[in-house]
Formats: sequence, structure tokens, C-alpha cells
Amino acid sequence: MYAGKVVESGDVDAVLDRPGHPYTEGLIGSVPSRNKRGHALTQIPGMTPSLLNLPVGCAFRQRCRYADQVCETAPNITTQEDHRKIRCHHVVEAAVNA
Ligand code: SF4
Repeated sequence: MYAGKVVESGDVDAVLDRPGHPYTEGLIGSVPSRNKRGHALTQIPGMTPSLLNLPVGCAFRQRCRYADQVCETAPNITTQEDHRKIRCHHVVEAAVNA
């Protein structure tokens, strides 16, 4: 969930192994693990917006490295080929096509 909305749901292994939403990708990338030893952890820039003052369009837009003009319109949640549901205009392609 991000800013009060579900942004990704689906099979646990699929979501954890190949996150499809940029926020999920950032969260998973920020978790320390043995196989990341010596590598910098991912940081999601910025802060979670106030629910009283959400940005126009996608609520994650100001923190997302994939954001573009399309993201000024709020994305709907869509069902991917692997049945997971993701709320993003630019689903991380490698994640759902693996
Ligand atoms: S809709 Fe755009 S800003 Fe929002 S998560 Fe997807 S790519 Fe990022």
C-alpha cells in the first residue's frame, strides 16, 4: 500500500522476487540481506506525502524514478498476465514478464 491505496498484490513469491510496482521495487531493494553484502541498498527519495495534500495524479510520482507526464493522471489498478494487480502506468516490465 502507498498513500492509502493498494499498489501491488499477488502471489507472495512473485511480488517479493520480481516486484512490479516502483514502490514495491524500492521497498524490496532497501531490505538488507546476505546476498546484497557489499552493495548499496536502494533508497526511495523524498517522503510519503500527507494524505491531506496528495500530489495530482499518481501519489508516488514525486518519488518515482520512472515518472513521466503520463503519471500526472492517477493510474488504475490493472491485472497483469501473471494475475498480480498493479497500480502503475509503467509496470516494471522485467518483473511481470519473467
Ligand atoms: S504511475 Fe508513474 S509515478 Fe506512479 S508508480 Fe507508476 S511510473 Fe511511478
